Amino acid sequence: MNCPKCGFEESKVVDSRASEPQDAIRRRRECEQCGARFTTYERREEQPLEVIKRDGSREPFDFSKLRRGLLSAAVKRNISSEDIDLLITDIKDSLQNSFRSEVDSATLGDMVLLRLKNLDAVAYVRFASVYKDFRTVEEFISEVAEL
Ligand SMILES: [Zn+2]
Repeated sequence: MNCPKCGFEESKVVDSRASEPQDAIRRRRECEQCGARFTTYERREEQPLEVIKRDGSREPFDFSKLRRGLLSAAVKRNISSEDIDLLITDIKDSLQNSFRSEVDSATLGDMVLLRLKNLDAVAYVRFASVYKDFRTVEEFISEVAEL
């Protein structure tokens, strides 16, 4: 969902709540470029998301698996499970709002990393170092995407 003010494509969720009736989630978002706030509504029309792996094969993406991976990595960090939930929700929203039903693993990895970086820079570096294990950033990204 692009910012209505400046058109920038990345925004973060600053508040999330169910609206009446309970068939939609109302989210307040903040543009990461100009800081403008706007509202989006998520309705229950969950499309399965397919991830295209580096070898070209596809598989349904398991968000709960990503959540578990991030949660376990966040245990000793300054990141709450609510932060993780918001991060996951934000990625889901972003994909849903752009009507994507498939995404390649590198792009998904970038989305995770970008949000993790905004959440807590120190945690991001620690998280990256744990997973990177002295390999290339690209490998790390694809690993996170495949958690
Ligand atoms: Zn903006």
